[in-house]
Amino acid sequence: MTPDRKVYCNRTLNFRSLKAIGYDMDYTLVHYHVEDWERIAYEAIRQKFLALGWPVENLSFEPARVCRGLVIDTELGNLVKANRFGFIKTAMHGTRPIDFEAQRAAYSRTLIDLSEPRWIFLNTLFSLSEGCMYAQLVDLLDERRIPEVLGYVDLYEKVRQALDNAHMEGQLKAEILRNPERYIVLDPETPLTLLDQKHAGKKLMLITNSEWAYTSKIMSYCFDRFLPNGMTWRQLFEVVVVSARKPSFFTTLSPIFEVVTEDGLLRPAGLHLEQGKAYLGGSARQIEKYLKLSGDEILYVGDHVFGDVHVTKNVLRWRTALILRELEGEIQAIERFKKTEHELARLMSEKEEIEAEYCQVRLLAQRKNLSYTQTPDVASEEIHAKMQELRARTETMDESVAPLARASTELSNEYWGLLMRTGNDKSYLAYQMERYADIYTSRVSNLLYTTPFAYMRSHRGSLPHDT
Ligand code: IMP
Ligand code: MG
Repeated sequence: MTPDRKVYCNRTLNFRSLKAIGYDMDYTLVHYHVEDWERIAYEAIRQKFLALGWPVENLSFEPARVCRGLVIDTELGNLVKANRFGFIKTAMHGTRPIDFEAQRAAYSRTLIDLSEPRWIFLNTLFSLSEGCMYAQLVDLLDERRIPEVLGYVDLYEKVRQALDNAHMEGQLKAEILRNPERYIVLDPETPLTLLDQKHAGKKLMLITNSEWAYTSKIMSYCFDRFLPNGMTWRQLFEVVVVSARKPSFFTTLSPIFEVVTEDGLLRPAGLHLEQGKAYLGGSARQIEKYLKLSGDEILYVGDHVFGDVHVTKNVLRWRTALILRELEGEIQAIERFKKTEHELARLMSEKEEIEAEYCQVRLLAQRKNLSYTQTPDVASEEIHAKMQELRARTETMDESVAPLARASTELSNEYWGLLMRTGNDKSYLAYQMERYADIYTSRVSNLLYTTPFAYMRSHRGSLPHDT
């Protein structure tokens, strides 16, 4: 298995002791061509703003402007990327980069805290249209071309509302259903992965926020053709839950309805769920009761960092798997850069040695000047010459280091670099992923190769003093 398709483990997980596996649908069991999906979502909101008379005629979706894991600062109209501690390391105001000094002035005392409404974390691939549109509209707002908008917070709320409406109104889903081959990336190995798990005794569940009409058509399109002997997707799942309203599905009790007919007729469900049936709404507590299992026997697999993984782990202590499709491109970019990365590391360690020597010589000069302690008998001229030489060598090194260091920050995305990194450090997305996802991988079908019997062991984590 190539590294881009491996399953990675943050906390040891024994698949043999899992009794049930729940799956999210969109961007988990079903993958879309992200740019195409997000472009129609973006277009839908652009049309809404056009209708309001906003000057958005010339705007178009720029997929590279945003990526998962960035945070919108609705107070300042910025898109930012933070490290694992929540310190902001890169920022754009609208679509314009903010230089180092301005960034320091804005953020040197700021830590991202996602419980504050100021910060909006881009949790999923569905967030790209929203992030891109917001950044572009910040530019227009700064030019005072949208007078009815009161500020950056108000602007964010209008973008959010427009996108929410676009998702709810159904034209987007209707377009996907009209042209599934254009928007959906089929994966013939996903159905087999689930079949293996089912036959290994795992109870499979589908828990999606999508509504019944969409879910049943999409699942049928993606699964039925690859299942044996006329089997349908419905037979894979012990329980199906649509319109689940995650994350509240995991935190609160809600009424549950049974989907009685294929065209979505509903009736209130009884107290006890039944095998093979499809439901609308409800809550994770009802699922646990039905399964008669404890949280650590259930794995939930999803792509939404907050809605699928964070809440599930925090509230229910279910085992969790995060699907990050971008990991494939990310790992391939890292692989391609490996040689340069080694060269960069070599140059940096050489530079560090020179810097350390410079510090020693400078301290010697200081002690000699101020005579507060004994110093070796070296002439001042000699010390100054050494300092000059070391400074010159550092400057020459910088000329070689700079282009390589810049290239390493542009890997995978020219504006934001690697999803999981901020410079050498881990990104805020990496922190969330490590904290809340027991395992992570680029797609569900990677579990085909680990089998339903795998014992996944976490790595011995690294600490600065390990070397
Ligand atoms: P899931 O990933 O299978 O739970 O489904 C995600 C559902 O949420 C899809 O039906 C999306 O259309 C919908 N969705 C994604 N983003 C938004 C949003 O911003 N507002 C409302 N619905 C959304
Ligand atoms: Mg999803």
